Amino acid sequence: MQPVHIIGGGLAGSEAAWQLAGRGMPVVLHEMRPVRATPAHKTDALAELVCSNSFRSDDASTNAVGLLHAEMRRLGSLIMRCGDAHQVPAGGALAVDREGFAAAVTAALAGHPLITIAREEVTGPPEAWDSVIIATGPLTSPALAEHVRQLTGEDSLAFFDAIAPIVHRDSIDMSVAWFQSRYDKAGPGGSGADYINCPMTRAQYAAFVAALIAGDKTIFHEWEAATPYFDGCLPIEVMAERGPETLRHGPMKPFGLTNPHQPEVKAYAIVQLRQDNKLGTLFNMVGFQTKLKHGEQTRIFRTIPGLERAEFARLGGVHRNTFLNAPKLIDATLRLRAAPRLRFAGQITGCEGYVESAAIGLLAGRFAAAERRGERLAPPPPTTAHGALLAHITGGHVETIDAGPRSFQPMNVNFGLFPPLARVPNRGPDGERLRGPAKTIAKKRALSERALADLDRWIAGGIMLAAE
Ligand SMILES: Cc1cc2nc3c(=O)[nH]c(=O)nc-3n(C[C@H](O)[C@H](O)[C@H](O)COP(=O)(O)OP(=O)(O)OC[C@H]3O[C@@H](n4cnc5c(N)ncnc54)[C@H](O)[C@@H]3O)c2cc1C
Repeated sequence: MQPVHIIGGGLAGSEAAWQLAGRGMPVVLHEMRPVRATPAHKTDALAELVCSNSFRSDDASTNAVGLLHAEMRRLGSLIMRCGDAHQVPAGGALAVDREGFAAAVTAALAGHPLITIAREEVTGPPEAWDSVIIATGPLTSPALAEHVRQLTGEDSLAFFDAIAPIVHRDSIDMSVAWFQSRYDKAGPGGSGADYINCPMTRAQYAAFVAALIAGDKTIFHEWEAATPYFDGCLPIEVMAERGPETLRHGPMKPFGLTNPHQPEVKAYAIVQLRQDNKLGTLFNMVGFQTKLKHGEQTRIFRTIPGLERAEFARLGGVHRNTFLNAPKLIDATLRLRAAPRLRFAGQITGCEGYVESAAIGLLAGRFAAAERRGERLAPPPPTTAHGALLAHITGGHVETIDAGPRSFQPMNVNFGLFPPLARVPNRGPDGERLRGPAKTIAKKRALSERALADLDRWIAGGIMLAAE
């Protein structure tokens, strides 16, 4: 049997190799380190953690990444097995001893009879490879990135993410904010009331601009600093530094909008939020990509009228990151539509984080294994953490309403990506009426229970049964 070729032995590639080999498929895992370095990796170990040593919350009942951990354990994940075995104390989070973890992943893969590890850079997968998984991550080598860019088109591969914060819709105070598109324009696919608008007085705007300029920022790594911001994606604080009126004439312009709560008062500036997922549960702050530290973002953005109690599904950032415009380019089983022998996995698909990258690697491995057997594995249900993340990558995102830069941006797993519950629990175990945080926790528990039950059904489903 021809091997499946995996390019990149990071979090995603390592997990994909394990899943394939576990299903009896020979694999060649091509990893360029130590022959060629990336700007962030420091060792030649597979699955090296380039920065923090945390897999984040391990709470499977009220945290989406904790739920993803639980699902991965049920799916026989190598990354989770080695993470659990090399855990270090970190409260409710799963943190790992990074050397022990990466050494364990490397040893498990090197010791598997069906896995060959080739230490080489692949600059383009040869035509003879009929099944390939590209898992080269945010720091994909320039030669391979150029090859992928040629396959997918100039605008389809980004080298930077410029992430605006995303807010849970149900945490926005709609007695202050309102739905309206500028000049009530419907545009393609819009209704004329597609944006959520948050108004500011002159004094609020001045204080906000001052806070942006004074706020603590993260600094670029040396190797990131050389890459200029791409057009239209300047961090909001950089725009603010250009002059006190710049934002009012840019992303915060107040024109063409009337506040129905106070029609007689003209807002001095307006923050707009645009729907970010098909479900309508998440809204992004338009033009608010930022290098402000996360704590500063929460503090400063909650001074915006209507966002005082905002819950952020994701905070903003600007990083060096190689990722595809996946919803356009990738099918439901992670294959490149234009060249289906190529699958993508990990952060290059537009997920974010160690655990999410490994989870998408797990799915890519399972899809490729089923395909080798001439079967088609259905994607996991969108109600599971794996399915919700996959749906974000492969089409869960809405297209931009305005003409302008494409809007797909990388995302961690979060409950905003899950389809809403048919019935939100409103009573506790003793029949008491749930309110505020207790209701939110009950909702998360119900989403998690539904996810694990649906995952078990997916695992037990026909093709999976044959494969286990
Ligand atoms: C600087 C930085 C810090 C980050 N910090 C965190 C963090 O603290 N927490 C978190 O959850 N996430 C973090 N991330 C985000 C992300 O989750 C990790 O980068 C994660 O490792 C991505 O997994 P991956 O498998 O997609 O890519 P990687 O783990 O990066 O694996 C890709 C592998 O492909 C190899 N490779 C690249 N090109 C080629 C080629 N042409 N041929 C052969 N091999 C190749 C690389 O050497 C690498 O080993 C960070 C990212 C960066 C860039």
